[in-house]
This record gives sequence, C-alpha cells and structure tokens, in this order.
Amino acid sequence: MKVTLISGGVGGAKFALGLRQALQDQDASLSIIVNTGDDMWLTGVRVCPDLDSMMYALAGLNDAERGWGRAGESERVSAELKAYGIGWPWFTLGDLDLGTHLARTTLLREGLALSEATAQLCARWELGAQLIPATDDEVETWVETTAGNGTATMHFEEWWVRTRATAPVRRFLQRGAESASPAAGVVEAVAEADVVVLAPSNPVVSLGTVLGFPGAGGRAGVPGIAGIRQAVQRTAAPVVGVSPIIGGSPVRGMAAQCLEALGQPCSAEAVGLIYGSRGQGGLLDSWLVDTEDSGALPALEASGIAAEAVPLWMHNGDASRRLALDALSAAQRAAGH
Ligand code: GDP
Ligand code: CA
Repeated sequence: MKVTLISGGVGGAKFALGLRQALQDQDASLSIIVNTGDDMWLTGVRVCPDLDSMMYALAGLNDAERGWGRAGESERVSAELKAYGIGWPWFTLGDLDLGTHLARTTLLREGLALSEATAQLCARWELGAQLIPATDDEVETWVETTAGNGTATMHFEEWWVRTRATAPVRRFLQRGAESASPAAGVVEAVAEADVVVLAPSNPVVSLGTVLGFPGAGGRAGVPGIAGIRQAVQRTAAPVVGVSPIIGGSPVRGMAAQCLEALGQPCSAEAVGLIYGSRGQGGLLDSWLVDTEDSGALPALEASGIAAEAVPLWMHNGDASRRLALDALSAAQRAAGH
C-alpha cells in the first residue's frame, strides 16, 4: 500500500510519526509532500523549517520539549553571528541545525534540486518515509502587514516568530508561485497513491501554500503550487483530511490569525467545507473532526464529505498512532463508496 501525506512542519510531523507506526506491520510505503513556503535564505544558508522539522521528528532528533529544532542543541555560531550583527537576533539557528543548512546549501550550490538535496540529507537517517518538498522552486510566503497608516512586508518567519503573528495581516503573498511547478515526484506520489492524507497542519500557511486556500469577504487567498491541487482532485486514491482545529481553536500555534487574515472562520467545520468535497471540485472524500466537534457532521455530510468524529488530540505517540489508524480506515470506507 502506498500512502502519501501532505504536511507542514511540527503539527504534521506529530501525525506522520503516528502514521509511520500505524503502517509498520503492513507492506506499505510512506511519501510525505512537505510545505516549502517557510523556506528562506538567512545568514548565507537555505533554511527549510518544515522539511527539517519533519526530518528531525522522523529521525528522533527533534527537541520535543521546546517544540522545534534539534535536541541537545548549542548556539555558539549564532552567538558569533549576533556579535557581528548578521542575521535575525530573534531567530536562533542552533549549531547542529546549521550543519543541516550548510549541507543543504552546499548541495544546492552544486546544482542539485531541493528534492535531490532533501533525499541526500534524509539518506543519513532511517526515516521510514520519503520526504518530498512541494516544489523545487523558491516560493516563499511573505506577509503584507498594516502598521499604523503604512504597510510593511516581511518574510513569513519574521511575522510568525518576531511579531508572534500579532502584526495585522493585509494579505499573504506566495512570492514566486506564478512560475513554480511541483517538485519531481510530487504529482506521481499523489497519482500513484492508494491513500492520500491531508495532515492536521495549518490550513493556510502549511497546506494552503501547497494546495491553495481561498480568501473571503474581499480578502486575498493563497494560490498554492499549480498542479498539486489538480493531482489531489484527480487521483484514484481516497483523500482523507484531519482537522487541525479542535473546538474552534488550533491546538497549538497561530492558525486562527492566518484564517482570520483570509476572512475565514476558525472551525473544523469551516475548514472542511473550504477544502470541499472532491465530488464537487474540492479536495476531500473524508474529513475527521474531533469528538467535541461532532455537531459539524451534518453540514459536512450535506456537502458530500464523509465526516467522522474521533479523538484528534495527539498528546502522545499512541494517540497519534490511533488517529492515523482512524484516518486509514476512513479512507478505506471512502474508497468503498
Ligand atoms: P508548523 O509548520 O510547524 O506550523 O506545523 P503544521 O502546519 O504542520 O501544524 C501546525 C498545526 O497543527 C497547528 O495549527 C494546529 O492546528 C495543529 N495541531 C497541533 N497539535 C495538534 C493535535 O494534537 N491535534 C490536531 N488535530 N491538530 C494539531
Ligand atoms: Ca511551517
């Protein structure tokens, strides 16, 4: 069985760990298409936050307590860069993490595509999954904010980390999206899958920057990478999504601000309806909401999405594994229809 997950960073990685466990006794392969909208050039190196979060989590190297980066990290190089006034003082790159970025940058400078560089970095670890960046092109999410009477445009990571998503958003920009195409292997991973899963990731800045997400009330949406949404719409595999929103709020992080910036409500029902039924030009055959959100089921069913209410809190590895099993059986039921 071929399973393809479309994901952001830390939230998606928690689910990916459960999915890998759920598949371990089966003859299955796992491909993970990862958001690259957070990528950037910083202090001379290419940083790919979501790819790295996913690689570190699957390799068991992540700092679970802090929630990002590598465990046992030190920050000697960052301290030197700070002393030179280089980089972002509020965005620390750990020494071990910098090793990853230097290795990646070396490969990119040698002419490898990001997908090739990613495969080479991942080959060092036993990930039990193939990581594929959504695109090999540099498509970065930038944020146009309103500050007083003026506007300021900053990289997504600056808005997220420095302003803690507090700077009011006029719109998100996906710089370079017009001319971008899916990375090698992305469309194939979706087309040849037996099951496609949309991770419980930020619907705007993690999945939206891959699949597109519309704005409402005159607000701009994000276009996504041309061709990936179409691949999901066309695949013969059932497509199941897991809500990143429980009881009207994202479990962790600032997805509410992202949805608000697009004029969209923050609820499991709304996000499911916006992703939409594949039967009607959308992305989903099936949508998992939390037991707390079971009131959303009738509206989702009425729109042609097979919806189910199951526990969505991934508070430990076993909860993630059970959620992944629920997603796989929902996909199986959707395929039977
Ligand atoms: P990021 O790129 O590191 O921000 O990670 P993602 O975009 O992949 O995931 C972030 C999202 O994960 C957050 O917006 C939350 O809504 C969601 N999330 C985090 N923990 C959980 C959980 O335990 N259950 C569910 N259903 N969603 C979660
Ligand atoms: Ca991210």
